[in-house]
Amino acid sequence: MARAWLSLGANIGDPRGQLVEAVSRLDAHADITVVQQSSVLTTKPWGKTDQPDFANMALAIETSLAPIDLLDAVLGIERAMGRVRKEVWGPRLIDIDIIAYEGVRMKSERLTLPHPYAHERDFVLVPLGEIVEDVTALVAPTD
Ligand code: ATP
Ligand code: CA
Ligand code: CA
Repeated sequence: MARAWLSLGANIGDPRGQLVEAVSRLDAHADITVVQQSSVLTTKPWGKTDQPDFANMALAIETSLAPIDLLDAVLGIERAMGRVRKEVWGPRLIDIDIIAYEGVRMKSERLTLPHPYAHERDFVLVPLGEIVEDVTALVAPTD
C-alpha cells in the first residue's frame, strides 16, 4: 500500500456536489481508500480567469495501484462523471489531479509527480495544508 495525495476541483454544474460524488467514487474503488479529506474551499480560477469560481479540496488516499494505474483510475472517474476535455484550464465538472505519490518522482508523457504546478497553486496548497504537515516538501518539483 502506498499513500498518495489528490487535488479535486470543479466549477460548473454543482461543484460541491461533484466533489462529494468524486470522493465517494474514489473510496468505492476496490484499490483506493480515502483516509483524509480537507474542507472545501471556494477559489478564483487560475490560468484562465474568465470562468466561474471553483470548489477545491484535497484528499489523502491509500492505494495498491502503481502511479500510472492510479492516473487511469482517476481519469476513469472523471469520464464516468461526464467530463469532456475542451480547453486546457477551462471550466470542468470535475478535475482530479495526483499531487504526489509517496516515494515517487517521475516525469513521463502522461504523468509528472509531484504535479508540476502544485507548488505555485494556493488552491492546491491551502486544502492540502489541512491534511499534510510539510506541504512544501511534498510538492517540491523535480528539476
Ligand atoms: P493541470 O495539469 O495544469 O492541472 P488540467 O488538470 O486541466 O491541467 P487535464 O486536461 O485534466 O489538465 O489533464 C491533462 C493530462 O495531464 C492528463 O491526461 C494526464 O495525462 C496529465 N498529467 C500529468 N501529470 C499529472 C498528474 N500529476 N495528475 C493528473 N494528470 C497528470
Ligand atoms: Ca488540474
Ligand atoms: Ca487534471
